[in-house]
Amino acid sequence: MAIFRLTGIDNFEPVRAVPPRSVSEDALATVRDLDEREEMEPWIQGILCDTNRTPHGPSEIVDILTHKLVVRGREGLAAFILKGRSFGTVRPAHVSHQIFRLERLEGLRFAIFAATGNVLDEVKGQFVSTAKRLGCHYCILDAHDLARLFIAFGFICPRDGERLRSGRCSCGYSPANITSNLLQQEALREIATTHNLNQPAAAIILPTGAGKTRVAVLDVKRVGAQLCLYVAHSHEILESAENEFLREFAAEDIRRFEAAPAANEISRINLFTIQTLARNLAALDGRRVDYMIVDEFHHAAAASYRRAIETLAPKFLLGLTATPFRGDRQDVLALCNNNAVVCYELRQGIECGVLCPYHYFGCFDDIDYSNIHHNGQRYDINDLERALIIPERDAAIIAKWREKADGKATLAFCCSHLHADRVAESFRSKGIPAEIYLCSTDRDARAVLREKLRRGSLKVLCVVDVLNEGVDLPFVECLLFLRPTESKRVFFQQLGRGLRRFVGKEHCAVIDFIGNFQNAYRTVENLGLEPYEHGEAAPESAGSRSAKEILNLPAGCAVVFDERVIDIFGYQTLNPAFATRHNISRILIHQYRKVERRLGRRPTKLEIDRTSLLDSSLYELVFGSWAEFQRTLDR
Ligand SMILES: [Zn+2]
Repeated sequence: MAIFRLTGIDNFEPVRAVPPRSVSEDALATVRDLDEREEMEPWIQGILCDTNRTPHGPSEIVDILTHKLVVRGREGLAAFILKGRSFGTVRPAHVSHQIFRLERLEGLRFAIFAATGNVLDEVKGQFVSTAKRLGCHYCILDAHDLARLFIAFGFICPRDGERLRSGRCSCGYSPANITSNLLQQEALREIATTHNLNQPAAAIILPTGAGKTRVAVLDVKRVGAQLCLYVAHSHEILESAENEFLREFAAEDIRRFEAAPAANEISRINLFTIQTLARNLAALDGRRVDYMIVDEFHHAAAASYRRAIETLAPKFLLGLTATPFRGDRQDVLALCNNNAVVCYELRQGIECGVLCPYHYFGCFDDIDYSNIHHNGQRYDINDLERALIIPERDAAIIAKWREKADGKATLAFCCSHLHADRVAESFRSKGIPAEIYLCSTDRDARAVLREKLRRGSLKVLCVVDVLNEGVDLPFVECLLFLRPTESKRVFFQQLGRGLRRFVGKEHCAVIDFIGNFQNAYRTVENLGLEPYEHGEAAPESAGSRSAKEILNLPAGCAVVFDERVIDIFGYQTLNPAFATRHNISRILIHQYRKVERRLGRRPTKLEIDRTSLLDSSLYELVFGSWAEFQRTLDR
């Protein structure tokens, strides 16, 4: 059995570009200060994210991170024992339980011991002899190795050793973006099959942030299309698409049209808004369109899209969308011959590591929505404005932001121009740079604001109904939901804004202010990330599932509700008009956990009856019996 070194691990290949001598004392000091659970483990998981997860998760084998790894071309299961700042000197007593557990991992091929502090020889001996006995290749990484690793993958600044935030250092350093590509690879394989079968159209459904446009660009290049049209509904989407094309095509082959094109201006790659294209179809008269891409394809049912597609009759049509929901998808898919070649939703995006996990905080909001006029579809905007613009509320929002996401690049979703203005003003009054960003903000000014947010001179961008689709701000690490999110689609569009991967980004904080607005309880459903709309049948009820399955969160994600928020869900659920089969068991579990947090132990049936809104008979009804509910928690 052989010992291997850091540079032998193929998954860590970029490390080879960081010379050992380039590691500064400052970077070493930062590495010695890393927390094993909060930093080392998620960082390494982040680095490994685009390989397949193994069935052993950290939750099953406590304290050991397991993952598939490729070492010098050979693939196998690897186990990491990680020791950070809690262990200045690693002694046998600190690790013997972990070393012992290595023996219980079936099929282990690589064992890696990584410590930022001093490791006693006795510990090394114990680790090496166990690895040898198990027939594992093994490796010991020290602070210097870890510094190279974390510099190479953009977690630590090579200049001053600072931890990077939102993909940049305060000194201005920003590493090249590293993105993962699992869903893109699969989409490309599937489109290739479509081409092989000579099918004229396909649709790709990938979650926001998975990089759909890049898939289209790579495919256009692969098939060697000579006349390609890219169509979307806003200039901002065209701009980011143009950047994607620029990575693969020469600038002179790309034209982005702001106004009517002359026939001789048509280039190889042509980017249009649907409005411009629809008015100028004649400019393409007689030209053979090889490849047409319609981005945010769920808009394509609109008559102008249909007319463009019918008139131009492209040789191949590719639709891109993130919107997985039924209803507004049917006729759209028909335009692509119902040929959805890949269909992945947010959950799969997060679980395969292409998207960032979220940490969701459902915070109590004092607003009494029962006095705000609701027309059955939405709240009256003037009433809503009046209700939401309250200085005390802003203070609570800022306090929560400081607690959960201080200093992170943040998008705040507001209900109106005035509301956005006031929120931005409140942040500024506390010394936090904030600006508004609206549909009416002119395009150059918007680009400046996005750049400021990226560089960190701006912390909070207050937005209204823009940025819901298409615009790429991967460095955003916090979302503030400051208005009631009544529709599932908007909820997901907003959530998607924060989940794009970026160097040094572990998760996105989502801070949602939940009051007693209509449908607030649906938040519980949305966070289960199930593709079922209200009224559709869920596959089963509680039955024999575990609490974890019922809560149904993607790996790495966390959801915490304020106690008073759970009460709101409880009240709404008690109303038979609100309760649905798929949210009731989740709400009951959240409520049980709430009482458990307060008591510091599991509450009894009696305590639930005494202290909570929903009594134990409801638990029995939903789970079958109290004992069955307890088993659900244990499973
Ligand atoms: Zn720096």
